[in-house]
Amino acid sequence: MSSLRDLARKIEDLLPRPVRLMEVCGTHTVNIFRYGLRSLFTDKLTLISGPGCPVCVTPQEEIDYLIAAASKPDVILATFGDMIRVPGSQGSLKEARARGANVKIVYSPLDALKIAKENPDYKVVFAAVGFETTAPAVAVAVLEARKEKIPNIYFAVSHRTMPEAMRALLGSGEVRLDGLILPGHVSTITGARYFSFVSEEFSLPAVVAGFEAHQIMHGIYLLAKQIAEGRAEVEIAYREAVSWEGNPMGKQLIRKVFEPCDVRWRGLGLIPQSGLRLRDEFRDFDAKEVLPLELPQAKETPGCLCGEIICGRATPPECKLFAKVCTPETPKGPCMVSSEGTCAAWYAYGTEQVS
Ligand code: SF4
Repeated sequence: MSSLRDLARKIEDLLPRPVRLMEVCGTHTVNIFRYGLRSLFTDKLTLISGPGCPVCVTPQEEIDYLIAAASKPDVILATFGDMIRVPGSQGSLKEARARGANVKIVYSPLDALKIAKENPDYKVVFAAVGFETTAPAVAVAVLEARKEKIPNIYFAVSHRTMPEAMRALLGSGEVRLDGLILPGHVSTITGARYFSFVSEEFSLPAVVAGFEAHQIMHGIYLLAKQIAEGRAEVEIAYREAVSWEGNPMGKQLIRKVFEPCDVRWRGLGLIPQSGLRLRDEFRDFDAKEVLPLELPQAKETPGCLCGEIICGRATPPECKLFAKVCTPETPKGPCMVSSEGTCAAWYAYGTEQVS
């Protein structure tokens, strides 16, 4: 670890002023905490977590929809495991399951197709939550469902795309930032050029970094170097997985099945064209079209600061519920549930020193 400490000193020596860098990827967030990277720096360099956890940015009304759909007697709700404990306005999917709702955890969107074929008397709704990273796999499942003419599979699409949210955050002026560690997983699909607006429109340095401690630190070093040299560019420090153009097949799958739409983000509100919905030709698979549900006004847990934390405007210890009533065993907001959530990472690792 001494080499990481040495690198941290080298980074701080480069900096002409105190800086604030934001990571916009949930896996970076959790690894920054896991490796204790925050503790390597003095107040000359502050790391801030951004809206990089897909479960965390999904607003309450979309979680409420999933819980209400799962509660229908003729519905099986298929979801990745990280959604199951996220609190909606009236409890979580896990609590709904304890009341008799048919909720199944799956590991791939294709698993939901299998469940649909095995349960022809049920409507199977797949909770399609995630960024550009997971959208291609869901697109494959939609295309497969059409090819196999599966009549009882539906997709509750809550996909979101990063650039518009980042523009909203950077354009708000509410959070002062000096550089961005760009989303690594998203960039494997989209390519790094997708984020060129960060330097072009906001004159901010940005680096795509890998996920190991030394890779994240190398990304931070490149950001510090840009700041020291007065440059604002997008750089790739994760060439093993990320190119400028990304994965053409993944991008084509997204374009083929989805189109942009306006969606709300927790903490950021309604952002035009920042979501994905199924194209018209796939509307028969759209859960919200086939299974429209009247829902009461969504309510968030009083005192939960997830919306502020997602935008870098607050840290978990500023939430009065943190580590008291809100823990990983008793989560009151999505940031404490998801393995990529800032509150869960802070609770698990705090700001402990690197050993
Ligand atoms: Fe929300 Fe819990 Fe985090 Fe507070 S500690 S912001 S209640 S998830």
